[in-house]
Amino acid sequence: MGVDYTQLHDPNAEYTMRNLSAESMQLTRDRGDREIEITDVQTTMVDGNFPWTLVRIYTDAGIVGTGEAYWGAGAPELIERMGPFLQGENPLDIDRLTEHLVQKMSGEGSIGGVTVTAISGIEVALHDLAGKILDVPAYQLLGGKFRDEVRVYCDCHTEEEADPIACADEAERVVEELGYDALKFDLDVPSGHEKDRANRHLRKPEIEHKASIVEAVTERVGSRADVAFDCHWTFSGGSAKRLAKRLEEYDIWWLEDPVPPENHDVQREVTQSSVTPIAAGENVYRTHGQRRLIDEQAVDIIAPDMPKVGGMRETRKIADLADLYYMPVAMHNVASPVATMGSVHVGAAISNALAVEYHSYDLGWWEDLVEEDVIEDGYIQVPEEPGLGVTLDMDAVEEHMVEGEELFDEA
Ligand code: MG
Repeated sequence: MGVDYTQLHDPNAEYTMRNLSAESMQLTRDRGDREIEITDVQTTMVDGNFPWTLVRIYTDAGIVGTGEAYWGAGAPELIERMGPFLQGENPLDIDRLTEHLVQKMSGEGSIGGVTVTAISGIEVALHDLAGKILDVPAYQLLGGKFRDEVRVYCDCHTEEEADPIACADEAERVVEELGYDALKFDLDVPSGHEKDRANRHLRKPEIEHKASIVEAVTERVGSRADVAFDCHWTFSGGSAKRLAKRLEEYDIWWLEDPVPPENHDVQREVTQSSVTPIAAGENVYRTHGQRRLIDEQAVDIIAPDMPKVGGMRETRKIADLADLYYMPVAMHNVASPVATMGSVHVGAAISNALAVEYHSYDLGWWEDLVEEDVIEDGYIQVPEEPGLGVTLDMDAVEEHMVEGEELFDEA
């Protein structure tokens, strides 16, 4: 069936100007009016299973945006330092303000590390704020959505992390009781066969021990769940190749960070040596940092951490670059519900989203931080409310603040 172009171009059609009020068009086109200005930036650190740096940006219109920076000592101080660079600015200019902060903080090291993390937290808060000003969900600011819900994978732990049966039991519990169909386990666990961890070499019995964990977990839940395994940058290139090859028969979701993060040549060689999918990316910053991993196809799956890598639009840029190579994106995430929801909006807006990580299932109060329900049966519904679509429960934030923190102002 053809499209009725006369209808689309009918200047009298009701929808033509539906969402663009005269005020908002003026606001976006003529920044000289400065109808809404940023007045203040504040942080509060919450003592979760990681320290979560929550960020709030206040405006003279009384509209407040909430964001979050990846855990990391120093982020609150850096965000406080950046506050004056934002004061008086129009919060709708997300790209310009982010670039402004990168330039202003270049002497502090804004190509990587905690400075980028701090900028990420501000950038997420700007998306919440701009969405509220324009009365649209944050995914709309990223170009609209490909999906109504984003898959969540559960990072699993057990006290007996080196015991294959204990890992399989926990996998079964998380699938059956918590409703996830996507899991991740650590594979850099002691086997009892190590001679010298410093040389990064894996001995044969160590590889066999890892294979026994993968076999036990995938045999138990492999027909009901996708399972990934994380090595946390531990092994030599040669050992990583042997491990990836040994695991091929189990057809795992991915093997994460088998080698240290600095040398992309080694990363590429490992990835291209095996059909076991290799994921990496949480330890490099901004699109520049991820570029070689993608351009050289040094990973099969790119795994940026949104509130660390540069924010929501930076993650979208990385995803777009990855999509040129038909490469999926699995978003690393250890955040509170605030930045997790930021990642969900990105996951909705990019074609190549695979899943978003959830790293707090044994904390007990993760969802208490916000008023909304967040994860349901292993998925997060993409919010339709303006901005990120989550509302902080200030009593819960106060209850779980890092000792000595001050609670930021109410919205
Ligand atoms: Mg990891």
